[in-house]
Amino acid sequence: MTIMTDSAHETVAGTVGEDVRTVHRLRVLDEHKRQALCGAGDPDGVTDVWLRAVNCPACLDVHEVA
Ligand SMILES: [Zn+2]
Repeated sequence: MTIMTDSAHETVAGTVGEDVRTVHRLRVLDEHKRQALCGAGDPDGVTDVWLRAVNCPACLDVHEVA
């Protein structure tokens, strides 16, 4: 599996808030802060990194430009 990332931020797969079924692509902003590419969840909300395939259609549709 290849995940395209921009040069500034790593992206990981994970869930946002209470919804543990939808796996988003999360942009790693800093050690403690991650933001779903599709904008799901609260910007300051809890995220959990999972070793699972991303299944959020909106996140899969995001094409980042380096
Ligand atoms: Zn998403």
